[in-house]
Amino acid sequence: MADCLFCQIVAGVIPATRVLESDRTLAFRDINPQAPTHVLVITREHYPNLAAAAQAGGGLLDELASQAQRVAEAEGVDESGYRVVFNTGSQAGQTVWHVHAHVLGGRALGWPPG
Ligand code: AMP
Ligand code: ZN
Repeated sequence: MADCLFCQIVAGVIPATRVLESDRTLAFRDINPQAPTHVLVITREHYPNLAAAAQAGGGLLDELASQAQRVAEAEGVDESGYRVVFNTGSQAGQTVWHVHAHVLGGRALGWPPG
């Protein structure tokens, strides 16, 4: 989608600090980090949210989850712990309508989130 920020990052039109890549996903650093580790894992294809990506099937969500774990390992937070968040809808704070997993770690994360 031409007007989608994350599609433009996939295409390389908008720069991002890439951390990991796989066939169907891309991971890059969040521009406004909320924790020492704050990486976004996105699908290369455009899906507006988690449910739409789930409907795509074919193991796409498994790949997102596996890549989140690989990001955590690469960042050295897999053993201390990390959080994976899919904000879905405006009241949950979703601002980019292209599915993305926030991978957060490197500090104690409060619960419940604010
Ligand atoms: P959400 O609010 O859950 O939709 O998450 C969108 C995230 O994208 C926010 O945490 C933003 O800081 C992040 N973000 C927005 N623009 C960029 C960008 N150009 N590069 C990296 N992260 C971005
Ligand atoms: Zn998109």
